[in-house]
Amino acid sequence: MKKETKEITIQLSKATATVTAELKLEKEVNMDGHKTTLPICEITVKCEVSGQTFYGYDEMKESVQFNGVDILGNIGGKVGLTRENDKAVRMLVNEMKQHPAWVANEEKKAQNKADQALEYKRKIASGWCPKCGSYCYGDCEAN
Ligand SMILES: [Zn+2]
Repeated sequence: MKKETKEITIQLSKATATVTAELKLEKEVNMDGHKTTLPICEITVKCEVSGQTFYGYDEMKESVQFNGVDILGNIGGKVGLTRENDKAVRMLVNEMKQHPAWVANEEKKAQNKADQALEYKRKIASGWCPKCGSYCYGDCEAN
């Protein structure tokens, strides 16, 4: 499996945790009994602490207070991140997003979006109506 990983350690109140960001570029799938690999571009964050593993970094919209400490993010809904730890995890993820494969994928996504927007404009210009979803040339409005 093609992947890149970056790892940091953060200090929690009672333990040290290892946080790993992983950029997966391939995924093995089973297609009618044939194993094949598909190209993907996904970043996952995992946190290992005291023999347990939690997945998924969650940037919280609003911080919460716990024992007088601001918690700004969490991993797997279980590991609370203080301002300092949240910043470290965010930097780790951002660092991973500098990977050429990720950058190229983001550019492709942006291009697809731009193409779709242009296509949508062309459709409307050619008489397609976004209200009724057919080529009514605005007739649905006239009645
Ligand atoms: Zn219409």
